Parts: sequence; C-alpha cells; structure tokens
Amino acid sequence: MAIVSHTLNTPDRSTAMLSPEEIAQLRQKYYNATVAYLYKPHDELMILRVRPDFPIPPYKPGQYTTLGLGYWEPRVPEAQPEELAEDQVRKVVRRAYSISSSIWRDGDLIRPEDETELEFYIVLVKRANGKPPALTPRLFRLKEGDRLVCGPKITGHYTLDGVQPDDRVLFLATGTGEAPHNKMILELVRSGHRGPIGSVVCVRYSRDLAYLQAHRRLEQYRPNYRYITLTTRDPEVREKKYIQDILRSGELEERLGWQLDPSCTHVFLCGNPAMIGPPKKDEQGNLVFPQPTGAVELLVRRGFKIHHPKDPGNIHFETYW
Ligand SMILES: Cc1cc2nc3c(=O)[nH]c(=O)nc-3n(C[C@H](O)[C@H](O)[C@H](O)COP(=O)(O)OP(=O)(O)OC[C@H]3O[C@@H](n4cnc5c(N)ncnc54)[C@H](O)[C@@H]3O)c2cc1C
Repeated sequence: MAIVSHTLNTPDRSTAMLSPEEIAQLRQKYYNATVAYLYKPHDELMILRVRPDFPIPPYKPGQYTTLGLGYWEPRVPEAQPEELAEDQVRKVVRRAYSISSSIWRDGDLIRPEDETELEFYIVLVKRANGKPPALTPRLFRLKEGDRLVCGPKITGHYTLDGVQPDDRVLFLATGTGEAPHNKMILELVRSGHRGPIGSVVCVRYSRDLAYLQAHRRLEQYRPNYRYITLTTRDPEVREKKYIQDILRSGELEERLGWQLDPSCTHVFLCGNPAMIGPPKKDEQGNLVFPQPTGAVELLVRRGFKIHHPKDPGNIHFETYW
C-alpha cells in the first residue's frame, strides 16, 4: 500500500492531496452535524456543542456517542506528525465522546427542553505511544459553523440506573472524564435527588477545570453537593495528591462530610485507567487488579461491588483508553 510520504499537519499539505472540490464533496457526503458553540479555556481543552442534522434520540445521562472528521482535514501543527496511506485520506476517523453539560443556562439549571444540542468536553492529545492521535488534532482546528460527523446512536452502560433518590453518589474523574458526570449531576439535581452528591476531579493545572464555576455555583444552590478538585502540577501544590491517595487516607470522606458506606453509596469513576484500575478475571473467576493500585481496588476492599448490567453493584466505571 502506498504511503503518503509527507506529514499531514498543515492545511496546505493536507489539502494539497485532494482538490478543494473533492474535499467539498467528501464533507457533503459524510458530515451530518454543525459546531454550534465552541469554548477553549486554553489551546488544549474545549467545550464543544454540536447540533446534529437529525433529531437527537432519547438517551441517558452518562452515555456517549461518536464524533468524526475526515483524514483530509488539517491537524494542529503542534501535534505529532502523521503518515497516511493513500486510500486513508478519503476516510473518516471516529472516536467515542461522553455527553457533558454546562449545568446552567441564563442563571437557571438547564431545562430538558433547552437541550437541543449535544455538549462535549475534549482534551487535545498531541502525541501517543504507538499510532499518532488521529482525531483530536483535527477537532482542535474546528470553528463555530464548521461541519463534522456525529454518530446517530447514543449508547453505554455508564448510567444512573439503580441509583435511588436517597443514595449517596460519588463521581471520581481525571480530566475530561468529568464530562458524563456533569450531565449525570444535572439529572440528579433536576430530579430532586435527596442524598448527598460529591464530584472529584484530578487535573494537572487549575486552568484544566473548565466547569469549575458551574460546580461552585451548584454548591451554593444545593448545600449537600461538594466539588473537590485536585491539581497535580500547579506551582503552589506542595504535595501531589491523586484520587487514590485521598480515598486511601480518609481525606476524601473528611472533605465530603460523609462516609463511603457501601450499603447506600454508588461510586462512578471515569477517565484515565490508571486512576480507575479496572480488574481482569483469572481462570477461577477471581479479580486480578493492576498495579499501581487504582480506586476500584480500594473500593472493593471496602466492601463495594463492581456493577455489571446483569449483576448490579455500586462501582461503575468507564475507561477512556
Ligand atoms: C466511552 C468513551 C468515552 C470517551 N469520552 C471522552 C470525552 O468525553 N472526552 C475526551 O477528551 N475523551 C474521551 N474519550 C477518548 C476519545 O475517544 C479519544 O480516544 C481521544 O479524544 C483521543 O482521540 P485521538 O484520535 O486524538 O487519539 P487516540 O488514538 O484515540 O488516542 C491516543 C492516546 O491518547 C490518550 N488519550 C485518549 N483519550 C484521552 C483523554 N481524554 N485524556 C488524556 N489522554 C487521552 C491515550 O493514551 C490513547 O491511547 C472517550 C473514550 C471512550 C472509550
């Protein structure tokens, strides 16, 4: 298979491979949604709202769909260069994205009838071990009004199914792993959930907390809601703490103001697999946890049980890679 010898990072190089007419035809053929809103707290993080050409199907908070762009689209110049086989240039790359929410609109909680777009919270992956990241270097070139692919199906088992109105609910996330939690928290608050809710997010820098104000506001609005942030690389951070550390030490419960009692608590974990530590099963069906210890193992040790759709439990997780 012929490999296109040059890298595809600049608009000039990528568009040079196909004529403007061919690119227009490919976009016309594949793209089925429009960028309705785009906010970048900084160059590597964005909140993106997409308006599909089709009616948004019913879905549950916590679920995800796909976004896609053609390989013919340009990449941000700072991303790892990519080599494409000639037949790949006309294809579309798609990735999964959880549906997020900004929680507030015009000073009030967003109402279901106002949710006419899908919101996503996406970080730029500039380089990866193995194949160069294909989609985010292209998504970060988008502007409002641009077109893209949005998957027509919204799916996933990472939902609030099984959570009762008086349960304690804890959300643990790294980075953009808070996306599904934002939507789930909005749903809980809108539906009058009575139990306490906590959301913890671990990021490198404070600037990576795009939803901070929305959550601080929610803490004012709903007294038994807590938003706890951990930053690992801010200059003023003297002791680097990860979610696993505050879970293990008891600091998490102290800051939440309530205990992680497995008889009445659901824990949702999303994002980096190193934080989550999803176990595998050995031949005897025993759970084998990865090293270093992740949050799931710490919770199982405390009497929590991993949720499966056919065998319900109170630990729910979604790994992003
Ligand atoms: C169910 C599901 C939901 C997802 N929802 C989101 C979401 O809401 N927001 C989001 O930013 N990503 C999300 N992802 C990850 C997303 O699908 C892409 O993998 C990611 O955007 C990178 O795409 P890429 O093509 O640029 O690189 P890829 O080739 O897909 O990934 C290359 C590498 O980048 C790293 N990586 C992937 N995702 C992230 C991330 N979020 N943060 C840091 N490093 C990462 C991993 O090391 C991965 O191996 C989700 C993944 C799954 C499975």
